[in-house]
Order: sequence, then C-alpha cells, then structure tokens
Amino acid sequence: MVQEIICIVCPRGCHLKVDPENDYEVTGNACPRGISYGKAELKNPTRVITSTVKIKGAELTRCPVKTDQAVPKTKMREIMQLINSVTLEAPVKTGDIIIERISDTEANLVVCRDITNC
Ligand code: SF4
Repeated sequence: MVQEIICIVCPRGCHLKVDPENDYEVTGNACPRGISYGKAELKNPTRVITSTVKIKGAELTRCPVKTDQAVPKTKMREIMQLINSVTLEAPVKTGDIIIERISDTEANLVVCRDITNC
C-alpha cells in the first residue's frame, strides 16, 4: 500500500508517496534528496536524538546531549532509557563522548554545551 509521508530534509516539506510494492518508488519529491529520504524512511527510519542529562557540580542541573549521527527509530526507546540513567560531573566540553556506540549503533552520545563547575 502506498504510504504518504512528509519529507523533512529541507523546509519545503514535500508530500511524498512511497510504494513498498513497487521497489519503494517515490513520487511527489521536488528534488532527488526526497527519493533517498522516502526510501530510507520506509525501509529503515532513523533520527538524531537530542535530549538532556543530569549534571552535578554545575550551576545548571541538566546538560544538552545528542547522538552524533542518526540511529534507528527502533532503538529510540532503549537509547532514551540509557540517556535517562546518565549523570555527568562538571566540567564538560562540547563534543565529549558520554557513551560510545550507544545501544550497539554507530552513534556516540555527545555533550552539546560547555559547562563549567561551580
Ligand atoms: S524532496 Fe527535496 S525539495 Fe522536497 S522537502 Fe525533500 S529535500 Fe526538500
């Protein structure tokens, strides 16, 4: 059955139609990037996860973090549970790796902001 999805690669937001029964043919795309996105979104959807974790020893109580590349959507719940279990100790720097290859993906969980200790 043809699936309708919105391309999120750029702000234009094309309404794509993807047909899994016809080699994931994509229509409705205004540029070739929509084809790649439409196929990937149905075959193996992925997302970059952004969140925050607890931090001790700083004026802030939460530190922004993200995965340094997209992870399979099927792993998002597991990864969020890991993120919620993390507590950092200040100071931290942007790009510090908190968890390597999180949940056996290619992505690392990294710090997104410099935070000094108080
Ligand atoms: S298909 Fe191309 S133009 Fe349309 S939203 Fe996706 S990236 Fe943008």
